[in-house]
Amino acid sequence: MAVPLVIDSLDFACNAEVRRGKIAIARFQRLQDYLVNDSGELGYTVTGAVDANGRPVLRVDIQSVVSLRCQRCLEELEHVLDIHTELLLAQNEQELKSLDEDEFVDCILAQPEMDVLLLIEDEIILALPVSPRHEQDGCMPGGREDGKAIREASPFAALAALKKTH
Ligand SMILES: [Zn+2]
Repeated sequence: MAVPLVIDSLDFACNAEVRRGKIAIARFQRLQDYLVNDSGELGYTVTGAVDANGRPVLRVDIQSVVSLRCQRCLEELEHVLDIHTELLLAQNEQELKSLDEDEFVDCILAQPEMDVLLLIEDEIILALPVSPRHEQDGCMPGGREDGKAIREASPFAALAALKKTH
């Protein structure tokens, strides 16, 4: 089951190879910093191809649901990942630099031993929202408790005010 997820990226692209499967989210170490829990798995497809200009590319498709922390109520937030990206393979640092100047392409350095797991993790981290939040009015548990706490506190405040006047 543990198929090695290492590819020779240029060969992979030129031979139009395809690698697809499922990976437990717990296997992505860097991703854990962004997640509330590491349960679940993701589905991925990595496809090698040559683009319209004859350049080698990797197409990366990732689907999953991950648990992020809402930055407003600090509760769990389910975030759907549906990533489709095309990465141009640069053959060396110089090419990478010149290709990177084109803002319409994403470019990575071709490697004879490219770790697909790291590649997928990079793409997920790039795609995560900087400040995840529930939809408007969607912050339920935390927001509700705050409201309750304020209401419970107010009778005491009223009592204190009463004591002062007498
Ligand atoms: Zn929220």
